[in-house]
Amino acid sequence: MGSYCGSCLCGTVKFKVSGDFDSFYVCHCRYCQKGTGSTFAANLFSPAGSLLWLSGEDAVTCFTLPGTAHRKSFCRHCGSAMPGVEDSGEVLVPAGSLDTDIVIKPTANIYKASCAQWEADITAAPGFATLPES
Ligand SMILES: [Zn+2]
Ligand SMILES: [Zn+2]
Repeated sequence: MGSYCGSCLCGTVKFKVSGDFDSFYVCHCRYCQKGTGSTFAANLFSPAGSLLWLSGEDAVTCFTLPGTAHRKSFCRHCGSAMPGVEDSGEVLVPAGSLDTDIVIKPTANIYKASCAQWEADITAAPGFATLPES
């Protein structure tokens, strides 16, 4: 069984997930665009996993969009996306919150119909290892 650790950007929240991930969804819906400020959210799902807060549990805030099942947990100090337990009991883990490497590859892109109009142009833009030199 896998064991994965993660944390928020400011370091207040630390967590551990015990269990295996069976899916890794990249979601391009408008809710995830708003919630991340980017083109998609990348979330891992562990149906039989368990979530343990190692620190900062009281800093974790959960927002549910009224009238929808869209929910986002985040650190109230730094805004980082944090794990949560879905109504189904599955543990949802934002991939970028993990400090442990994962082997699972993204299983599907969902809500592609809602893609940001500029998403397809990202890979065409020049890349730099860090900041471009000025
Ligand atoms: Zn934080
Ligand atoms: Zn979404």
